[in-house]
Amino acid sequence: MLGPVTTGHPTSPRPHRRGRSRRTRAVLVAVAVAVVLAVAVAVAVLVVPLVRPAGPRPLFQLPVACGETWQLGTYPGHDDYDVDLFPTEGRAWGRPVLASYAGEVTVAGINGSLGGRTPEDPDGPRGRGGGYWVKIDHGGRWETQYLHLLEPPLVRVGQRVAQGEQIGRVGSTGNSGAPHLHYEQRRGWEKVESYFDGAPSGITHDDTEYTVRRESNNCPPG
Ligand SMILES: [Zn+2]
Repeated sequence: MLGPVTTGHPTSPRPHRRGRSRRTRAVLVAVAVAVVLAVAVAVAVLVVPLVRPAGPRPLFQLPVACGETWQLGTYPGHDDYDVDLFPTEGRAWGRPVLASYAGEVTVAGINGSLGGRTPEDPDGPRGRGGGYWVKIDHGGRWETQYLHLLEPPLVRVGQRVAQGEQIGRVGSTGNSGAPHLHYEQRRGWEKVESYFDGAPSGITHDDTEYTVRRESNNCPPG
């Protein structure tokens, strides 16, 4: 009986395949390490700043011209801490909207839809949401928002603005009944009571209608 005939040279391609799979494993390990590093960097960059405690409250000023007196108010169904600003003298249309504090513009665009309420057609079709709006990041997780502007904002995303710099004009775009400025101060993800010139506005809820008058101290330095 003859045994199996062999050449003496194993033809199994296994050593070869093992070489390839070793390279494949090395690539997979490299990819896995890269993914883990990317996730770690993303967590560090995105999440850590969000869970860090907020910095001290900036010395916000009323977002309207120095020396003017405006009525600050809210009404049931508004939202807690939201402030609507109306001038106590003169008409609201086109009045300058100023940055409450220095910062970087993070939003300058349209929220919802504009609608068609203009100085020429104040009872035109009502829009949705905030209309033309601006959001400013003041650092330390503090932000301010300015809604229902008349025209496209005068600032662009990424722009640094100084306290008192004009960012837009008062209008009635979006879901707005009459020309006014809807304004919010935010700490982290949350709206908070708006303070102006170091003093609380007193607008902390929307259970009842509430108004208060304040004079703007958003004055040029010096
Ligand atoms: Zn409002």
